[in-house]
Amino acid sequence: LNRPPIVTIVACLMPEMGIGYNGKLPWRLKQEMAYFRQVTSATFADGKRNAVIMGRKTWESIPPKFRPLPDRVNVVVSRQFAEDLAPAQSSAPGSKLSSHAGAAAPASPALWLSNSLTRCLDLLPQRVPDLERIYVIGGAEIYAQSNSLCDYMLITKIEPESATERPPMDAFLDTQSIHALFQHDQSLPSFLPPAVSLPADPYISENGYRYNFALYRRR
Ligand code: NDP
Repeated sequence: LNRPPIVTIVACLMPEMGIGYNGKLPWRLKQEMAYFRQVTSATFADGKRNAVIMGRKTWESIPPKFRPLPDRVNVVVSRQFAEDLAPAQSSAPGSKLSSHAGAAAPASPALWLSNSLTRCLDLLPQRVPDLERIYVIGGAEIYAQSNSLCDYMLITKIEPESATERPPMDAFLDTQSIHALFQHDQSLPSFLPPAVSLPADPYISENGYRYNFALYRRR
């Protein structure tokens, strides 16, 4: 690959691959969130960083004090933005999307805005040269388009424990297209940087759900 790998990362309720309800996650899984943070932040190479690309609605679902996600180059896509890729500072003052980055100027901006998912995937490696991986982090509308664009998928497969009712869900992955385009890959441990800790028991029980982490790669 002559560009950073594009990796979709998603947590979904099996088998219908539900991912959201009412603009939020249908569950609260702390260890799953910790896995997401570690995987998207950690790199193999010192001095490199990862990017996280998300739809405007997923950005808005993150509490303002937690965004942009630290230690990662954040890109928000919205068809309302003026440019195909620009640092957020150039957006209108008072914008909900203005950066909370600290006073020290980072090597490159922590937050970028794009009006095109495909254009930002092409342009990002040119504008941010030290990228190791580009993570696509949702939501449903972005995942539907990234199926045909990404090289790998990191899927957390969730099931309710027997006493737990299935949660209401209104956002889903396209299971047919994922099965057609991706195959399971056993090499999750070596795919993740050493700083990421995988559980000894592959199944985690938390908050009424049972889940495990899986890697898929393009067929
Ligand atoms: P998204 O986060 O996918 O954002 C959709 C918006 O992105 C669109 O309205 C548009 O913004 C913009 N957009 C979409 N495609 C493009 C494009 N090609 N170019 C430029 N802009 C584009 O929203 P969804 O409602 O689909 O998904 C949100 C749901 O997903 C929530 O419930 C959330 O909790 C869940 N989620 C679940 C995850 C999981 O792992 N389980 C992870 C992430 C989110 P505009 O309207 O401004 O033009």
